[in-house]
Amino acid sequence: MEVMRSQKKASSALTSSNGVSTLNLYRSAPTLEVRLEDFERFAVDRLLVLRGISDGLARGKKPDEMEKLVADLLKAHMRHPQASEVNNKDIISHFVLRLVYCRSEELRKWFLSMESTLFRYRFRSVNSDVHLSLMTELGIPYKVVSQKEFEDLRDQLNLVARSANQPLPTPNGLYKVSFEEVPELVATRKVFIQKGYAYVALNQVVSFVVPHFRSHLSKALVLTNRKWTSMIREQEKDRLTPIVEALATSYLGPDYSQDKEVGEISLKDIDQVARTSFPLCMQHLFNTLRDDHHLKHGGRMQFGLFLKGVGLKLDDALAFWKAEFSQKVGAERFDKEYAYSIRHNYGKEGKRTDYTPYSCQKIILSTPGVGDHHGCPYRHFSEENLRAALGKMGVSSRALEDVIEKARNRHYQLACTLTFEALHASSCDAGINHPNQYFSDSQKILKEKNMSTD
Ligand code: SF4
Repeated sequence: MEVMRSQKKASSALTSSNGVSTLNLYRSAPTLEVRLEDFERFAVDRLLVLRGISDGLARGKKPDEMEKLVADLLKAHMRHPQASEVNNKDIISHFVLRLVYCRSEELRKWFLSMESTLFRYRFRSVNSDVHLSLMTELGIPYKVVSQKEFEDLRDQLNLVARSANQPLPTPNGLYKVSFEEVPELVATRKVFIQKGYAYVALNQVVSFVVPHFRSHLSKALVLTNRKWTSMIREQEKDRLTPIVEALATSYLGPDYSQDKEVGEISLKDIDQVARTSFPLCMQHLFNTLRDDHHLKHGGRMQFGLFLKGVGLKLDDALAFWKAEFSQKVGAERFDKEYAYSIRHNYGKEGKRTDYTPYSCQKIILSTPGVGDHHGCPYRHFSEENLRAALGKMGVSSRALEDVIEKARNRHYQLACTLTFEALHASSCDAGINHPNQYFSDSQKILKEKNMSTD
């Protein structure tokens, strides 16, 4: 996408009644003037909407719940201080994310699915004039059914509507389209068909507009990927490319470099808080370290930064790691080979960067090798090992089946959220996005419970 060119309107947009959502078809890339910080900020805002939709779908929300969720997400993230800029924000954010998500089959699939869902629910919230304009713009041939034709067919139309549990059709808002345009409605016998035409009520229009939107976007993503690899990536290597590459795996919440709300934990409490408040990934690393007195580099980084985030001070961290490692490699070798990297994590060596704990997304995308124990158990454990680990944590057999099903369907963070909910008998509507968030939320719940029983 060309970022720095000025032209106000690049794509048709239809504003819905809530003033937040605009309905664009994103047919051609915009040539809007975009500041670099908006390029990234708008994309992050849209990503929050798409990730919220993904979470809602994974939780099995019903269509009316999804409709509310999408409206709330749009209100929360897609507003702009200037009403006139709402549409530009929508367009820019979509095209930036196209660049981000065009780059692999897996990314394309996710983006296509989330954008189509977003479009579907926005489409439901706009009025019939907008629906007809969109059909025209998409080039979907339709004919308005005349009053006479409606009267001639009234009995058959009513019969189909009743048997499909649909509202009875009225002469206003009934259209004829080629039956090939509406395979979903034909397959479920929800439309009357005659001479190659399906008679479609306005409330059914969404079922054939969305596949058009989806198919156009699918092709566009493939083309964008070609342009990205042949040209844009190299041309923009110092400016946009680093932003685009970081966005797909970016974690959008707090960094938890030091959890201010929970405070510090001391060495004497570590076994107890590990049992009650560490997520499975960290419990696994903790138990492995206790059993083997060793962790390879990936495990030391993932677990060490987590401990720093939960409030373990540097001196305590050094004592903790030394107590374990020295049993395997001896105290001297620990001081020589391992203490440096712990101090490094706390920003006391090397470039003195204060490193932040890893997010779930980063952990899930890691690739542990043989002998490694880092990673996310919901993704990296076999089903058998996951079952055993969850049972050991105390997850009831009923909740366990739900967790396993989510993990099997690759909803790893949702599986972790369900584990959290089962173990704390408390809901976690925001979902688990960070191991330190798991810890922090768990500690808050346990403290509240303790206070109420005092
Ligand atoms: S979802 Fe996140 S917190 Fe939970 S086990 Fe996986 S990486 Fe850890």
